[in-house]
Amino acid sequence: MSKYIAAIDQGTTSTRCMIFDQSGAVASVAQMEHEQIFPKAGWVEHNPTEVWDNTRKVTAEALAQKDLKASDIAAVGITNQRETAVVWDKTTGKPVYNAIVWQDTRTDQIVEELGGSEGAEKYKAKVGLPLATYFSGPKVTWILDNVDGAREKADKGDLLFGNMDTWVLWNMTGGTDGGVHVTDVTNASRTMLMDLDTLKWDESIAADMKIPMSMLPEIRSSSEEYGKVRERGVLAGVPIAGILGDQQAATFGQVCFETGTAKNTYGTGNFLLLNTGEEKVMSKNGLLTTVCYKIGDNKPVYALEGSIAVTGSLVQWLRDNLGLIKNAPEVEDLAKQVEDNGDVYVVPAFSGLFAPHWRSDARGVIVGLTRYATKNHIARAALEAVAYQSKEVVDAMNADSGVDLTELKVDGGMVGNDTLMQFQADILDVPVIRPKITETTALGAAYAAGLAVGFWKDEDELRKHWAEDKRWEPQMDAKDRDAGYAKWNKAVKRTLDWTKG
Ligand code: ADP
Repeated sequence: MSKYIAAIDQGTTSTRCMIFDQSGAVASVAQMEHEQIFPKAGWVEHNPTEVWDNTRKVTAEALAQKDLKASDIAAVGITNQRETAVVWDKTTGKPVYNAIVWQDTRTDQIVEELGGSEGAEKYKAKVGLPLATYFSGPKVTWILDNVDGAREKADKGDLLFGNMDTWVLWNMTGGTDGGVHVTDVTNASRTMLMDLDTLKWDESIAADMKIPMSMLPEIRSSSEEYGKVRERGVLAGVPIAGILGDQQAATFGQVCFETGTAKNTYGTGNFLLLNTGEEKVMSKNGLLTTVCYKIGDNKPVYALEGSIAVTGSLVQWLRDNLGLIKNAPEVEDLAKQVEDNGDVYVVPAFSGLFAPHWRSDARGVIVGLTRYATKNHIARAALEAVAYQSKEVVDAMNADSGVDLTELKVDGGMVGNDTLMQFQADILDVPVIRPKITETTALGAAYAAGLAVGFWKDEDELRKHWAEDKRWEPQMDAKDRDAGYAKWNKAVKRTLDWTKG
């Protein structure tokens, strides 16, 4: 019997293949970064061909590390950066344009026109999302409107759309030679095109966005067999049996199976998801309603989500654009050398502000500068910005659900940063808890695939894999907490209306 499950994690900055054993432990991992393409201010693209090449390479390498063959792998799960949109020609298999990444704000105008007099809330009751540049639908509209000949081809039925899950799956299952054109409910719920109740594409919204229905993948559950890896591939013949958008995957990997459980992932951006069970809760406080997962024929489970565009990428910006640090962990070394932020606040509204504000016209600020301020204070303020943005989302979540969060499970690349995690516990005034396996995104996709093929029996078996690694208890007194948060809120106000005001 096959002893492992493989997960492909097609993320914003890199693509990983992780192989997990029956106990949920990592057996091997291979990772490759891909180019971040910034053609203009506010534009972010990836080359889908590079991403697919990397996917094949990391998969081969992860297998080779442990000398594994396709027959050792019971199933493959896919998890992916959500919303990032690829349009390709189904006859040639070639993308007609680079992938437009979730952070990209070029669709600002399209989004505003779509909203018309009804504004950002126009489709919210159906799709759970405010009209914003973040989501895939308008990105497809942009490609069809701006790439020579794309609209004619789309109208003839020659073009396919997919998020990265669909692009990877289509290629893995054969591409032009019988590739499967499918997505799962969690990814579909980020396009602005899926009705959250019926879990089907909404033809009227697709028509508003001028997207032909023939381009859209078939929507399936998050855990079932979609197809097998093509014969020439490194995992030839292995079933692909799980797809979850990255944040839903992390929620699944953190075993947040009960209503009321939540996790916060600290990666390029931050994403806090609260499982709301079979009930679809509509936010009154700037959160998104989204599908959390759907296991086979079971009913869908929904989530409330607070998405923050810029957290870890602020640290990358300190490194790449300001040259303040040489690598990400150095931000903590700098921040630790000062006792406080020296009254400096950074609001990284680089892609506008996402939850709970949804203001694509906001732009970033550093405020409170005096001659006293040093790079240490800026580093500290950057880490605090991550925690403050998460506090805004937690406050919104508490208000929407009517129940206060009592603890926060965390994961992602930034949770190795003690200073940040302590500050997060302080500012939220609840314990912050890190599990032993922080690779919850890949793990969640592996779980979805493993459940589909009977590698794992049920959710109870998965729950047993979760173990606490570290806990940060709040230590700050209420007066300091409130004073800091009040300053933060003032700083946020300074970012609004920058492009329009
Ligand atoms: P993603 O899956 O979104 O690509 P990861 O979960 O791998 O991201 O996290 C990487 C992010 O975390 C990067 O943006 C990086 O700047 C940040 N990061 C990694 N280590 C640290 C650290 N010790 N302190 C602060 N930020 C960090």
